[in-house]
Amino acid sequence: MEDNIKILIEKALDVRKNSYCPYSNYAVGASILAEDGNVYVGANIENASIGGTICAERSAMTNACSSGARSIKIIAIVGGKVDQNINEMDWAFPCGICRQFLNEFASEETIVVVAKSSYEYRMFKFNELLPNAFGPNNLE
Ligand SMILES: [Zn+2]
Repeated sequence: MEDNIKILIEKALDVRKNSYCPYSNYAVGASILAEDGNVYVGANIENASIGGTICAERSAMTNACSSGARSIKIIAIVGGKVDQNINEMDWAFPCGICRQFLNEFASEETIVVVAKSSYEYRMFKFNELLPNAFGPNNLE
């Protein structure tokens, strides 16, 4: 588990380099270990329309989903200003939209890792970050 988390944080830090964030200068990377055993990554991609911007978490999840993965085991997130030291990231928690988006593919076992570096991170159960969520079960 701990080895997996460090690998996921490294992958999130790596994909963060591809963040397209000319408006906020806030670069975020996310990596997802899916139920299929594969890791999917994504960075935030901003847009001049602002509303067209997508966060790293949704970027990673759309990558996973487009590859056929439908369930998140662990998601790791790193974020900070573009030129910020990669060993001193912010505690970049997922925004409200991302929490709702990820809920679609989360389970009671899903773990969210928010990392400042590969050795300093916090872990949460997904439902701690979005309690009483509205999800697919509500529409059955
Ligand atoms: Zn977000």
